[in-house]
Amino acid sequence: HAKSKGRAQTCFFDHAMTRQMAKRREIEADLRKALKQNELSVFFQPIVDLESGRIKTFEALVRWFHPEKGEISPAEFIPVAEETGMILTLGNWVTAQAAKVAMTWPADVNVAVNLSPLQIRAPGASLGIKNALQAAQLDPRRLEIEVTETLLIEDNHATTLFISELSELGVKFALDDFGTGFSSLSYINTFPFSKIKVDRSFVSSMQVGRRSEAIIRAVAEMGSTLGMEIVAEGVEDIEQLQAVRAAGCTLGQGYYFSRAVPDHLAAILLSKERDSDAQHATIARATG
Ligand code: C2E
Ligand code: MG
Ligand code: MG
Ligand code: MG
Repeated sequence: HAKSKGRAQTCFFDHAMTRQMAKRREIEADLRKALKQNELSVFFQPIVDLESGRIKTFEALVRWFHPEKGEISPAEFIPVAEETGMILTLGNWVTAQAAKVAMTWPADVNVAVNLSPLQIRAPGASLGIKNALQAAQLDPRRLEIEVTETLLIEDNHATTLFISELSELGVKFALDDFGTGFSSLSYINTFPFSKIKVDRSFVSSMQVGRRSEAIIRAVAEMGSTLGMEIVAEGVEDIEQLQAVRAAGCTLGQGYYFSRAVPDHLAAILLSKERDSDAQHATIARATG
């Protein structure tokens, strides 16, 4: 009986695996087409100064609108792009788009892009970034590169070279999804991060447990001592906003402020800020 049960489970497992693999191959084929047929676009999500409420940076997030299947999440297709090497083409394209759009913003607004480990370890990786900056004529100091902890585990020569080469140009680095990977404080000690982005899972569990609050507070304290900004990811409501601000985070990102939006809406968010600045100035003149 035990044996037949075991076989049934193996069978089920095989089916699941086969389905999974078929799905991946399908995504792969679709993604190749999507890259050629302009089905991808870059959206922008604001990262806001928690003191002034102003947008400091927009994070570029790739979007895929499939003509028949609708929107496909990056969580689904980025891993496939990584496995197949398509991430190189895709990633350079995202960076080039992001840099071009950033040129239409005020000069004190930065743009952040996510880079996969593969993009950073590829031969001549920094060239893709430099080309994107050059083509758009964007000041390298306005570009932020977000990397996750998994990248740094394989702390090899190529990674170190990539980071130091671009840092020299003024490009900034942010440690993304902090707290989810194999976190090690030695990464923060080794690499010149200007930002740490505390993962959404800590922010969303703040009200529930005091542990996550203590963790965010400790990270924020370390950040301020080391001259790094701490970004709270996934701020969804006013309670979370108040909590992360109280814990010492300097920047926030999340649906409470805005989702990722297409470039024309990002421009509207910025022009609204400028309008309210102008209004404040007028009031100050009238009353001052
Ligand atoms: P990430 O870099 O950590 O980006 C933040 C993700 O959290 C985005 O998901 C964003 O839409 C989502 N998010 C932001 N605020 C909230 C919130 O308040 N609540 C909730 N529930 N979610 C929020 P998205 O766009 O689906 O991207 C998922 C991941 O895919 C990204 O995580 C990043 O790792 C990867 N990714 C996206 N675009 C690119 C890209 O161009 N290149 C690479 N290599 N990876 C990318
Ligand atoms: Mg990110
Ligand atoms: Mg993140
Ligand atoms: Mg993430």
